[in-house]
Amino acid sequence: MTQTLAIGAYSESDIAGLKAAFDPIFLDTPADLAGVDASKRASIQALAFKGHTAFGGAEMDLLPDLKLIANYGVGYDAIDIPAANARGIKVSNTPDVLNDDVADIAVGMLLMQVREMTQAADWARSGQWKTGGEYRLNRKFSGGRAGIVGLGRIGREIANRLAAFKMDIHYYARSEKETPNWTYHADPVSLAGAVDYLIVALVGGPDTAKFVSREVIAALGPRAIIVNISRGSTIDEDAMLEALEDGKIGGAALDVFLNEPNINPRFYDLPNVVIQPHQGSGTVETREAMAALQRDNIHALMKGTALITPVN
Ligand code: NAP
Repeated sequence: MTQTLAIGAYSESDIAGLKAAFDPIFLDTPADLAGVDASKRASIQALAFKGHTAFGGAEMDLLPDLKLIANYGVGYDAIDIPAANARGIKVSNTPDVLNDDVADIAVGMLLMQVREMTQAADWARSGQWKTGGEYRLNRKFSGGRAGIVGLGRIGREIANRLAAFKMDIHYYARSEKETPNWTYHADPVSLAGAVDYLIVALVGGPDTAKFVSREVIAALGPRAIIVNISRGSTIDEDAMLEALEDGKIGGAALDVFLNEPNINPRFYDLPNVVIQPHQGSGTVETREAMAALQRDNIHALMKGTALITPVN
């Protein structure tokens, strides 16, 4: 039987599923690998990987017979793909099964931000509704102009939802897509200049680092709102914090940050930011589907059949 290792913070039900299928060795982080007996490490052929801690060539070399890294999540930017390729290690991910949840969170965060739902809830809870009267008027959500940065699987689900809110949909991708009357921008600065809401749904990793650059942020107006459900790395975070603090943009709604969970504390002082703790795919139903797809990829390796959702 293929010996399996599981790295990451898995839920109880994920652990039960992995145990029943593979009876793996469990580790919390890649750093724990070095503490595993060399003969045990040498027997590992499949790795069920979860988390955002980097897994590179040095870690792969501690598992000399490794054949598959089955990532729990669609974003595999923590895994060094060139290093895996160089060692003949296959990588799989869990695309599509999480699209709905992540798109729901993106739209929900944007609606929270635009309608000031957190502040309005505080107004009621703190008793100000009784003493101060109506909460202040805010801003109409439906019918705005939305710009999606990265019209991939998740980006398209976000666009579909915002179209149902009667929004005018603009998008950036590396190539123009087939869409129903949505406006393509080959340049993200042009996209930013055309919209009220900029929703980032790019892949992470070095190629998209700071893709939403200082220049893109400067092209947004003082009422514009940035939503990010991709990775903290895709936005120039310093430039975004400055723009939020100086009122150059209206607000942000963020599920992802640099250095999570030790995020820049400047975010906590900003009333115009909705913060979510990277919970885009965090529902019972979707995590079960992700776990099942991760296991199915490992089963495919064991059976010698094609991976279901290969990355490399
Ligand atoms: P996808 O279908 O691969 O779409 C990714 C988008 O990124 C595409 O539009 C693609 O453009 C664009 N892109 C890729 N490389 C690029 C580059 N070098 N420069 C510019 N654009 C580039 O991915 P997905 O399934 O929608 O997932 C997107 C990301 O969401 C994941 O990678 C992950 O980081 C994040 N995510 C977050 C959560 C959460 O909990 N917040 C959950 C799941 C996923 P083209 O269309 O031109 O190829």
